[in-house]
Amino acid sequence: MHFDLLIKGSEVVDPGGGNRGQLDVAIKRNRIAAVEANIPVESAFRVIDATGQLVTPGLIDLHTHVYHSATCWGVRADPVAARTGVTTWLDVGSAGAYNFPGFREFIVRPSLARIYALLNISSIGLTASTWELSNLNYMDVDLCCKLIDLNRDLILGVKVRIDTSTTSGTGVEGLRRGLIAAERCALPVMVHIGKGPPELSEVLELLRPGDILTHCFTGQSMRIIDQKGKLLDVAKRAWDMGVVMDIGHGAGSFSFETAAAMVDAGYPPHVISSDIHQFSINGPLFDLPTCMSKFLALGMSLEATIAAATVRPAEVMGMQQEIGTLRPGALADVAVWKLSEGDFTFYDIHMQPRQGKQLLTNTLTLINGREVPHTSDDPPMPWIEQTENQQALMARGHTPAAMER
Ligand SMILES: [Zn+2]
Repeated sequence: MHFDLLIKGSEVVDPGGGNRGQLDVAIKRNRIAAVEANIPVESAFRVIDATGQLVTPGLIDLHTHVYHSATCWGVRADPVAARTGVTTWLDVGSAGAYNFPGFREFIVRPSLARIYALLNISSIGLTASTWELSNLNYMDVDLCCKLIDLNRDLILGVKVRIDTSTTSGTGVEGLRRGLIAAERCALPVMVHIGKGPPELSEVLELLRPGDILTHCFTGQSMRIIDQKGKLLDVAKRAWDMGVVMDIGHGAGSFSFETAAAMVDAGYPPHVISSDIHQFSINGPLFDLPTCMSKFLALGMSLEATIAAATVRPAEVMGMQQEIGTLRPGALADVAVWKLSEGDFTFYDIHMQPRQGKQLLTNTLTLINGREVPHTSDDPPMPWIEQTENQQALMARGHTPAAMER
């Protein structure tokens, strides 16, 4: 027995490892041990038959909110990980300086999912739904840097949300201070855009190569295309300069109109992420695989779509040697998928429909070579009401489970 576990008969799609085809995946302890054709079943202690299915690296979701029970937005990661193949979760700004110690103790430590964070420049994080940058006193650069230095193993950057309600008149001062903190700590900033003011140009002209623009395909007033669907010059400059374009679908931040214009013009996103949280988990986002299926519907290839949720976010996190690939030696985070062919309708946050022919459905998720057990989600928080759009989706039987049937 060379291996602990062998996944046989699948089609491997591993853009990070440069592998595609009918290959078996062998795991020893918590690492990928081999990816080869026809590995004998006798070589492994346990064999999983994945005939007819896809095997990819465990997904990396670059925009999540998993600080459950302590912030407005957070959902519990593990139940979602088990059914979606998302093995690494970057929580972006749920915690600020004052509640990061709790995030480590109560979220990161007990979770099976691999969880990392961007620290909110606002010291209170996303405790409330918004307004975290409305009070300049909360944007404490020294305190932000102090917490980053104490938690370098978990904190990979700084998060700032810039839109009309988060800033409540403080303009881009939160971003300016977030960039000072990030510069001092030699880390990137992720900035969120939505409904202005501020204007998109005020945000983009401050960004550096390697910083991340999330909600990049928003349909709100800070969107990156003009009325005719053409990429704005200021956005093209940011794109060409090396700003990372991240989807962050969420409850208010993904427009098929923007996405189709960009994909058709040859500007697919660098990273496909979910922005999964209390308000988006019941649709039309649902989860990362559903979001990825929307990009298949937009005409992105399977390989490019998988890359945008595995090797690309791993590179952004500086962890491409360890995660986001099935290369031998990498951590054994693996997702197994059914790729259904049929007629599927997907919706953006404006309830605009788009027809697709393929649906990705996760059938098995491994973290560190171990199966993530299925558990039920927590009930929604008291402040969550199903929106009209979510009720309409439910009435149409539009859920990932129903679509798959
Ligand atoms: Zn978010």
